[in-house]
Amino acid sequence: MSTYRNFTVETDADGIALVTWDMPDKSMNVFTVEVMDELETILRETVADAAVKGIVFTSGKSSFSGGADLTMIRGMFSMLAEEKARDPAAAAQKLFDVAGRMTGLFRRIETCGKPWVSAINGTCMGGAFELSLACHGRVVASGKSVKLALPEVKVGIFPGAGGTQRVPRLANAQDALQMMTTGQSLTPQRAKAMGLIHQVVEPDQLIETARQMIRDGLKPVAPWDEKGFKAPGGGVWTPAAAQLFPAAPAILRRETSGNYPAALAILKCVYEGLQLPFDTALKVEQRYFTQVLQTTEAFSMIRSLFISMQELGKGARRPQGVEKTELKKVGVVGAGFMGASIAYVTAAAGIPVVLIDQTQEAADKGKAVSEKLVAESATKGRLTKEEGAALLALITPTPDYSALSDADLVIEAVFEDRAVKKAVIEQIEAVIAPTTIFASNTSTLPISGLAENSKRPEQFIGVHFFSPVEKMMLTEVILGKQTGDRALAVALDFVARIRKTPIVVNDTRGFFVNRCVFRYINEAYDMLAEGVPAAMVENAARMSGMPVGPLSLNDEVAVDLSQKIMKASIADLGASSVKPGHMALIDKLVNDLDRRGRKNGKGFYDYPPKPARKSLWPGLKDLYPQKNPADVDIGVLKQRFLVTIALEAARTVEEGIVTDPREADVGSILGFGFAPYTGGTLSYIDGMGVKTFVALSEKLAAAYGDHFAPTPLLMDMAAKGETFYSRFDPYGEGRKAA
Ligand code: NAD
Repeated sequence: MSTYRNFTVETDADGIALVTWDMPDKSMNVFTVEVMDELETILRETVADAAVKGIVFTSGKSSFSGGADLTMIRGMFSMLAEEKARDPAAAAQKLFDVAGRMTGLFRRIETCGKPWVSAINGTCMGGAFELSLACHGRVVASGKSVKLALPEVKVGIFPGAGGTQRVPRLANAQDALQMMTTGQSLTPQRAKAMGLIHQVVEPDQLIETARQMIRDGLKPVAPWDEKGFKAPGGGVWTPAAAQLFPAAPAILRRETSGNYPAALAILKCVYEGLQLPFDTALKVEQRYFTQVLQTTEAFSMIRSLFISMQELGKGARRPQGVEKTELKKVGVVGAGFMGASIAYVTAAAGIPVVLIDQTQEAADKGKAVSEKLVAESATKGRLTKEEGAALLALITPTPDYSALSDADLVIEAVFEDRAVKKAVIEQIEAVIAPTTIFASNTSTLPISGLAENSKRPEQFIGVHFFSPVEKMMLTEVILGKQTGDRALAVALDFVARIRKTPIVVNDTRGFFVNRCVFRYINEAYDMLAEGVPAAMVENAARMSGMPVGPLSLNDEVAVDLSQKIMKASIADLGASSVKPGHMALIDKLVNDLDRRGRKNGKGFYDYPPKPARKSLWPGLKDLYPQKNPADVDIGVLKQRFLVTIALEAARTVEEGIVTDPREADVGSILGFGFAPYTGGTLSYIDGMGVKTFVALSEKLAAAYGDHFAPTPLLMDMAAKGETFYSRFDPYGEGRKAA
């Protein structure tokens, strides 16, 4: 047998070859061209070697595999772009062939005549799970960290290496569709109950069980290659299928508003594939896969949600040459709503935290939030009692600032009030070490202004969390005018340690995320004032791909908070900074009607006691003369939401607030769920072309106001035929790819 870079092959006395996938220099196994080349050779050699009776395939890492490698995917897209420029028809054919490589390899494994058993020792995603499905046996190690999934739809594609054909031939079609159209993770137990795997065993029994399957005479033939095979539930022409398949596209449309071509392609692959012989079905899958790969949605989602997110997570914006900080202690000052949760995520990452508030009682109340979260995780089986106790032991609540003396990083989350923050900054700086980095979690106060209260502005930075902190994956890191490289490096090391994705932005009112969110909510105020029924406002927003309607979102963040922010803008920037109509609406809701949002049970919605569900407040229609819904173009409403947000993102680039398009894209999706199928705010513009976007903005500006007018940067880019990713190339000088 040959030797391999990514695999070892050892054959035992029974003729069972143990193939262990263990890529050098990688923490996780992924599919690369080299991995596929080596797998081809292993297949050829094990088939040719008469001494080999069967193959057990496993991983040498703690997880099994994460699926495809991003460099391979990036390579595929650049190949496509180059070929398309040369010869579009040949490009599609080439893509079809490249996309089919994995499918062919897995099918050859399935039909090689010798039994293959996949011994899945840890998390197994995407292509690696598709490979396992092509093996004749699948054994999975039990363990709460073991997850099995075909998550491709989350990045705009679908399981295109046989997944859409093998899953519905093993599991019933409904479960198969559910699993693949949502990309959900399965526990080993759930995968077994669905029929996707054969056995779940203790980790130390994994390889032996797999070997035993072969010794017991496992047939090297897939069920669908046997004569008379029937899919579970009987395939497409059964009464059960007659219930499922006509409803499936409607359900999908309800969930996705038709925005995700890949999810629809999964339905087509399953429905059409189940009526065909297996090899023809694989070809149908390959055709749809090639089509989906060429969509703007797939390109943009893969770029933002797969490639850029990983790159930012791995520290693409971290200053080079600053040594990595091992955080030994973090201080959190202000144990309120945000501070308490920041302490929790810090302790959950294994870092000791001092949680400070004005009194011991207030600090204890902050720690109680972690106690509640730990108890909830324990009930769900995510934490053992010991792990929960260890996490809580890391949090020390106290009113005593001197406990901060040896902290590497201190984050303040006290009241949003300049005077309170000034006093706290001075109090903290009086006790911390000269090397400690100071971070503010302010959401509205510019960092450079706050840093004026600091004796060490180069060590002063913004680290802006989103609520609920334990769930939101984004953290906005804000550079003040004088913030230094070490402060940025420490902030990013912290964000990486708590496993959040950072975006780094320059200082401005509202930073990046909130500036965009305000535009979203403001557009809804405009629509209400025009007499658009509130239900249409909310539905149009969701149909455009936003996860939460703007009025619902406003209720969540509190209507009186909007009022506070608007008043602060008027005080700081002048009356013209807020539209009088917006201020009047919010003043009416808060001052006259006491409708403050979910927190007091009434805002744009009414919140009756559970189990009744919230519903739009009927009184809204009395505030403005209502339009007939038939006279409102829902398509235009959808565009207005996306365009006004994208324009704001473009302004942040123009003003130098956001300097890397990856951050505007990833930040907009993770921060407020900007229509993920677009790949984010700037990809939305690039995806339709800047010229088209400018024309659309001009049209909207003529009808709905100057805030839609395209900016000088956009006009210039349109004239030059540029995109954000070409003009502000993230891989240009001084920038790092993963
Ligand atoms: P909060 O009122 O719930 O908590 C503030 C806490 O700070 C209180 O527990 C208070 O006792 C404490 N505090 C006040 N003065 C103090 C002092 N001198 N020393 C120690 N503790 C002191 O407020 P919050 O919603 O947690 O907001 C805190 C900060 O986080 C604000 O700057 C806010 O803008 C920012 N923020 C809030 C959100 C949000 O969704 N609420 C999101 C992002 C950022």
